[in-house]
Amino acid sequence: MNDRAAAPGAPYVGRFAPSPTGLLHAGSLVAALASWLDARAHGGRWLVRMEDLDTPRNVAGAAEAIVAQLDAVGLRADGPVVRQSERVALYEAALRFLEANGRAYPCACSRRDLVLAAAAPPGAGEGRGEAIYPGTCRAGLHGKARRSVRLRVERVDGSGEARIDWRDRRLGAQHQDVARAVGDFVLKRADGVFAYQLAVVVDDAEQGVNEVVRGEDLADSTARQILLQRLLGVATPRYLHTPLVRAADGAKLSKQTGATPLALDDPLATLRQAGDVLGLAARGTTLAEWLASAIGCWRERLSMPRGDVDALVHDARLAAARTSPCP
Ligand SMILES: [Zn+2]
Repeated sequence: MNDRAAAPGAPYVGRFAPSPTGLLHAGSLVAALASWLDARAHGGRWLVRMEDLDTPRNVAGAAEAIVAQLDAVGLRADGPVVRQSERVALYEAALRFLEANGRAYPCACSRRDLVLAAAAPPGAGEGRGEAIYPGTCRAGLHGKARRSVRLRVERVDGSGEARIDWRDRRLGAQHQDVARAVGDFVLKRADGVFAYQLAVVVDDAEQGVNEVVRGEDLADSTARQILLQRLLGVATPRYLHTPLVRAADGAKLSKQTGATPLALDDPLATLRQAGDVLGLAARGTTLAEWLASAIGCWRERLSMPRGDVDALVHDARLAAARTSPCP
């Protein structure tokens, strides 16, 4: 294995990376709080990055509003807020590198072509809501116009499978064969927008992010991102995926399902709710006191003998049953 893991002992750099497609809701605050606490407990830096490449879905003013929401609960970035829409040259360079190495190729297929091909084996790509790309354009476009650009999903050594094994600090050992589960995924869409997977990998590497703490809904993207990191020759961060907040009907809270924006008339109460999801028994009557106590809780977990994987938000119910308050 010649993978470059993040250099041990490198200064901690974490990030929170929301999409400005709406305001933060209770679920996104859990991920923001966890990433902020992990950075603070490690004495590291915490960055905020706006994932605003999907311009048709962006909402005017949402980026500024999100920063204001974070500010209202005492979470402030160490450095300027970065916007992906201003970093397109970086993604273009990464794409050119992959193309030059024969890892990316143009695809002429329309959405309709892909529906008609529908070659996905039963069960593959399940839950992702999209069929596995059948590889139609791998052998060239045969005169058709280029629409998108796809990654040739193979192991770094060029053999057929692309199994990625990785370890999540909360979920433990994970694996995915990206070729089977996802297939040749899109790096640049037909509308010219760079895909989330590529932009995230380029940004995390360029910003020196070596600890990714984010919601569990993104755990499924991790294998694709690690594959891209290997192909681009950049370091792989450590990953921690936080529990999702569910609505009363069990569905994941999201902007798409109409989750209501964070209630900020009582910021401390809002923070406490996010802390409950993470199983934090933090105390305090002001934001500053509560956050300081929560950092203490988080540090305590990091120092637990079971190690990093189990020490963090392993089971919110179990943690909530704790009787000893945090420092
Ligand atoms: Zn194609």
